[in-house]
Amino acid sequence: MADAAVLEQLASQLECEHSLKDLHGSPRIVAAPRSVSDVASCVRAAGSLGCSVSVVGGNHSGYGGLGDLVLEMEHHFNAIVADSAAGRVRTEAGVKLKSLAAKAAEAELAVPLGTAPTVGVGLILQGGVGHSTRRLGLALDAIHSLQLVTAAGDVLSLGCDSSDEEHKDLFWALCGCGPNFGVVTSFELNASKLQSCRQTRQVFHVPSDRTACEVAPAVRAYMLRSQSLPRDCCSDCCLYMADDPAEPGMRVGIYDFNFGCDVPPVDAAGAKLVVEQVDHGLGPIQLMETEPYLCEQPFGVAHRGFGSSRRFFTRALFFARDAEIGEMLVESLSKAPSRHCYFHFQHMGGAVADGSTGSSAFLARDAEWSLVITGSWAEDEGDCTPWVRDVVKLLLPLALGCYATDLGAQDVEMAGQTFGRNAERLLALKQKWDPNNMFRHGFPLSQLGKAA
Ligand SMILES: Cc1cc2nc3c(=O)[nH]c(=O)nc-3n(C[C@H](O)[C@H](O)[C@H](O)COP(=O)(O)OP(=O)(O)OC[C@H]3O[C@@H](n4cnc5c(N)ncnc54)[C@H](O)[C@@H]3O)c2cc1C
Repeated sequence: MADAAVLEQLASQLECEHSLKDLHGSPRIVAAPRSVSDVASCVRAAGSLGCSVSVVGGNHSGYGGLGDLVLEMEHHFNAIVADSAAGRVRTEAGVKLKSLAAKAAEAELAVPLGTAPTVGVGLILQGGVGHSTRRLGLALDAIHSLQLVTAAGDVLSLGCDSSDEEHKDLFWALCGCGPNFGVVTSFELNASKLQSCRQTRQVFHVPSDRTACEVAPAVRAYMLRSQSLPRDCCSDCCLYMADDPAEPGMRVGIYDFNFGCDVPPVDAAGAKLVVEQVDHGLGPIQLMETEPYLCEQPFGVAHRGFGSSRRFFTRALFFARDAEIGEMLVESLSKAPSRHCYFHFQHMGGAVADGSTGSSAFLARDAEWSLVITGSWAEDEGDCTPWVRDVVKLLLPLALGCYATDLGAQDVEMAGQTFGRNAERLLALKQKWDPNNMFRHGFPLSQLGKAA
């Protein structure tokens, strides 16, 4: 952390709008750059004083606000241009997924993104799993080019077809481990033709006296069916406790997002169907607004509870098709300290495997699911963070690896399981492009070097 005198000096060097704020328990300079050259001069000023820099995109990770200098992109980096003839969408770095999807849809285009409307471009730089992932790949697979301000304050245009080997390498690193390498000010994303979606929501209930023996087969049946589906259908699953004290037990929600193919019926191994809803003709915005699991929870319980007093802690692991985790999940959930902890299988597979690890630093190309493990608790309940960490420890030996997006300085062990054989190349690139570790507040790349 920079001391008060250094922060004062830093503030005196900034030309764009900025203020001294207490964020996450410490004073920081929070700036709202108006232009790419503002970003570059902010980064140069921070570098000259040995200050760290972090960037706030959609502010969903909590790491964007940890730098001595915090760059808030949402104020002035909001332009989006969708070009249907070129099949591309250009977006600036302060944009949220909902606006991006909406602008693309106006031009009859679709970009693979995540499922939550308020998430920002931190998702694109580190992965990006959503309902179109099986058809179109990860969000980072759609990056055609981007503009970067490096730790030295240089502005670079980088793309998948860069002829300069140094730039090609840096582009590779940005696609998966982006926040460690600078400030991305804009992206050009490859887009596909927009297709509407049929969403089928089926929820199965298993009473608490029969939980372990009946829920695990239902989870296994979900895993078998989902991996057999064509690319045009993605099937997610949430495993959670019923919220109704009159009818305690576990619920298995199975949610198909079908973009136009024939699929087999859902198999829940005999569990009782309690909710069934089919919606036709949904566009990307409606899909973001009707995320099925969230719709099943009382207001404020799931992540839309950002406005509520609940707290959340999330980590995600990638699993291959043959992962045998059904029973472990059921047992772990039955021991969760809050009945609002849950597991979410985000369906991957399909086009994810088409992207090579040569084109991006993202490693888990064989993943069939990203399993999101969420602890959610109210002030008067116990902290669920240790539960999430215990579940991660239990499942990690069976996983392909960890998802980078949620990881920070306290996650060095998980971080060591994220980039696998790519970690060494990333570390060498970090040394080259950010030798003073100016961008150090998200994924703890440089700590992997120390651990090794
Ligand atoms: C409610 C919720 C729903 C989610 N849903 C999904 C989902 O469906 N699919 C999925 O794959 N993930 C999902 N995630 C995880 C999400 O991808 C990560 O939390 C991601 O880091 C959020 O990006 P952000 O821009 O919103 O957050 P921020 O906290 O603003 O940024 C995340 C990281 O990226 C860095 N960063 C942001 N912008 C830039 C930039 N322009 N240049 C360089 N670095 C930058 C930040 O410094 C920070 O380290 C979800 C998370 C939440 C909380």
